[in-house]
Amino acid sequence: MLNFVLFGPPGAGKGTQSEKLIEKYQLIHISTGDLFRAHIKDQSALGQRVSELIANGKLVPDEITIAMLEEEVDKNPDAKGFIFDGFPRTVPQAEALDSFLERKGTSIAGVIALDVDQEELTKRIAQRQLETGRVDDQADKLQKRIEEYFSKTIHVLPYYEGQQKLSKVNGIGKIDDIFAELSAVIDQY
Ligand code: ADP
Repeated sequence: MLNFVLFGPPGAGKGTQSEKLIEKYQLIHISTGDLFRAHIKDQSALGQRVSELIANGKLVPDEITIAMLEEEVDKNPDAKGFIFDGFPRTVPQAEALDSFLERKGTSIAGVIALDVDQEELTKRIAQRQLETGRVDDQADKLQKRIEEYFSKTIHVLPYYEGQQKLSKVNGIGKIDDIFAELSAVIDQY
């Protein structure tokens, strides 16, 4: 199996690039944000537990997120590999992912971080809020998400750097150019 983590702050383009990558590499895309939104839409028990946290831009507790992620991986026993998008977002999530994959006899091959500056992120998310009406894209909620990113999620980078798995790709420019750069990284594996 070939498993990758696509890493980056809110608005970095992880979802857009994941769509293209899964098509090219026949991997399964797992976005914890998309999964949570589907649960909220379906008003499942999990959705009801997390909706307020998400609407306010806070992270969902690790325990809940990890269990949901593992369940989703287990739904795809024949996968050639996965692209994890929006997960891990904390170091305990990264550690849990490593031990979960190890139990399955596999591992994370590489972590690709999309690099986008703050000004560009704010612009993109304001645009997305207009298009999708996502409540957590509203300016005050977004501020909380950015705080969560810089207080908790950023520490995932040195975790993978220590494992020599981290690559950085410039996330500003044409979607296809960024995709070409991402593909070049994945092709090295
Ligand atoms: P973004 O556009 O900020 O990358 P996502 O769609 O990935 O957002 O996630 C939306 C929200 O879902 C997050 O702000 C958070 O509340 C919750 N969430 C998603 N993934 C995780 C995770 N791995 N751990 C905790 N909370 C998460």
